[in-house]
Amino acid sequence: MKTWLTVPTDSDFSIHNLPFGVFDAGDGQPRAGIAIGDHIVNLAAAAEAGLFGKRRFFKKLFEQPVLNDFIALGKPATNRIRRKVQDWLCLPERPENAAQILVDRRSVRMLLPIRIGDYTDFYSSIEHATNVGKMFRPDNPLLPNWRWLPVGYHGRSSSIVVDGTPIRRPHGQILPKGEEIPVFSATKQLDFELEMAFVIGKDSPLGQPVPVKKAEEYIFGLVLFNDWSARDIQRWEYVPLGPFLGKNFGSSMSPWIVPLEALKPFRVKGPKQSPPPLDYLKTTGARNLDIELEVAVQPENGPETVICRSNTRYLYWSMAQQLAHHTVNGCNLRVGDLLASGTISGPTPDSFGSLLELSWAGQKPIPLADGSTRTFLLDGDTLAIRGWARKDGLRVGFGEVGGTISA
Ligand code: MN
Repeated sequence: MKTWLTVPTDSDFSIHNLPFGVFDAGDGQPRAGIAIGDHIVNLAAAAEAGLFGKRRFFKKLFEQPVLNDFIALGKPATNRIRRKVQDWLCLPERPENAAQILVDRRSVRMLLPIRIGDYTDFYSSIEHATNVGKMFRPDNPLLPNWRWLPVGYHGRSSSIVVDGTPIRRPHGQILPKGEEIPVFSATKQLDFELEMAFVIGKDSPLGQPVPVKKAEEYIFGLVLFNDWSARDIQRWEYVPLGPFLGKNFGSSMSPWIVPLEALKPFRVKGPKQSPPPLDYLKTTGARNLDIELEVAVQPENGPETVICRSNTRYLYWSMAQQLAHHTVNGCNLRVGDLLASGTISGPTPDSFGSLLELSWAGQKPIPLADGSTRTFLLDGDTLAIRGWARKDGLRVGFGEVGGTISA
């Protein structure tokens, strides 16, 4: 595949990727787009130019503030639009309508691309679950259910924000060490969680489980995800019903949804599962993804430091297994639901996907390039998560999801 457009060789948004997002070019009118190199294919303009047929239908669809109705058309339709854009970008020469359809990607503001219905967060990295378990329960780090089912919780969808949205340091109840009475204070242990999330692309009715073999039909695409966490608030409140105010003050997602189809070359087998899962969770073939991940911290007036490098392939439970488990009791799914992986930690200390683990609960400060150290995030810090897949000269990336902490 060769495009007439100049795409930098290290661009996340190669001709093989073509992720979907929603942008505002400055006129306040949201439009759907596809990222390509340093540009965006304005899908509303492409519809108007007749690229997809049914001009009025598609123009209206691509002028909506979110992609839900487009995604709900189903994979045959969404893949067809992607292929039409790919064909247009691979015409023998630059078409005359290029100037009307292309937008400079650096000149726009990206918006939250979907109206998120329900949001679920899993806990699917065995390294992360073991690390956190070791800190809280040294004798019994991995609880007995963990290897049998993808543990998860229902989170809050309305506080999920797009890349670049500032995150306000939350206040809450915290139990000081050795005390019995909690204090009300700003969190002193503001953390990130390196995660990926997938967007549901097809409804499944209440009462009907989705078999694991069909699970991927329900996955539209993936984004990078940061489940910001206030560890001191979380530690005091989580017993016995799980995460609450230590989590729901904000979560961030990257603006470009990479379709599952674009990630096909990067499929890999996951870790060996032992004991073998129950029948409804049994899968075969390459169900995990080889996506390289990195996390960088940038202090207010300093250079950034990469503090973690991990990979999506470490996840013990695959997306198909998470989805099959989520619906096995008959729980329904709706287009626009978001299912996040849980913190993606790898086997080595430099691959741990949270400050809680990287600083081992604050005991090991992490050196930054400006000479300062971090155990948890400070006001003014910007934290960014990046992700990309690479193979034989192909590159399919996610861009980044970042956010700056404010007081
Ligand atoms: Mn999480």
